[in-house]
Amino acid sequence: MQNAAFRSAAINLVYLALALPPDKLAVGLEAARVFGWRGLNITIPHKEAVLKYLDSTTPEAVEIGAVNTVVNEDGILTGYNTDGAGFIRSLLEGGFQPAGCRVVIIGAGGAARAVAMALARAGCDELILAGRTLSRASELAMQINRRYPAKARSITLDEQVLTPVLVAADLLVNASPVGTFPHHQDPPVIPERLLHARLTVSDLVYNPRETVLLRAAKAQGCRTVDGTGMLLHQGALAFELWTGKPAPVEIMRQELNRQLG
Ligand code: NAP
Repeated sequence: MQNAAFRSAAINLVYLALALPPDKLAVGLEAARVFGWRGLNITIPHKEAVLKYLDSTTPEAVEIGAVNTVVNEDGILTGYNTDGAGFIRSLLEGGFQPAGCRVVIIGAGGAARAVAMALARAGCDELILAGRTLSRASELAMQINRRYPAKARSITLDEQVLTPVLVAADLLVNASPVGTFPHHQDPPVIPERLLHARLTVSDLVYNPRETVLLRAAKAQGCRTVDGTGMLLHQGALAFELWTGKPAPVEIMRQELNRQLG
């Protein structure tokens, strides 16, 4: 996706995927400085650990506690997080306006943090974090309440607790890995009987593109937003940070679709 974008914008950069063991993270970043790489994306398991090796980090990335994009200016490394803003762009593109809405998010890991903070910043009214581990969801809810007017609270994944909450919700986001290949045939993280046609259902999982949750949501008449939009737009925002140019979003989308099949 990034290489297709560089080619189409005639930018002399190449994007490489490199594996890095956790104990070599500092050395890897030093290599970026020494070789003068323009930037990096950071992924699992380094997104949180990388903060302490950077020269500066944007307030947004500090708030999320994770960096997915680094820009190198003459050896000075700055960390950004484009996941949350990428998610909001994908929602808007899917026709959903986050301002004033009531949201239920499943999961309380890194992706849930980025999405929850971005939704709070975008002016959503109520954020309910439904967690398998309630303490993680509660911690995130407290952090949101300290920073934003959005009302955040945590609940368990118990069906009796979820039922009234989903009846009142406008948006359901799956920020857990449930539904990812090769477990794509497992039951959806939320049973189909709890979904209703006024809900927009977003799944961050993009492998497969139509998850079992999105299939159930479509069957109930819900609007759906799949995980490829967030993947595309976090990458487009990273492209813009590295190059200072508008991202060729349609070229990137075509390439992403081609790669994901
Ligand atoms: P993570 O940090 O490992 O967090 C995963 C969360 O899901 C945790 O809160 C975990 O609960 C919960 N969870 C795991 N299995 C569950 C289950 N069976 N039932 C209920 N909850 C469960 O992972 P992450 O980085 O946040 O990523 C989450 C998903 O988002 C992944 O599938 C990832 O591929 C996807 N993602 C997509 C994009 C995109 O661009 N579309 C970007 C980032 C991530 P506990 O708290 O109990 O462990």
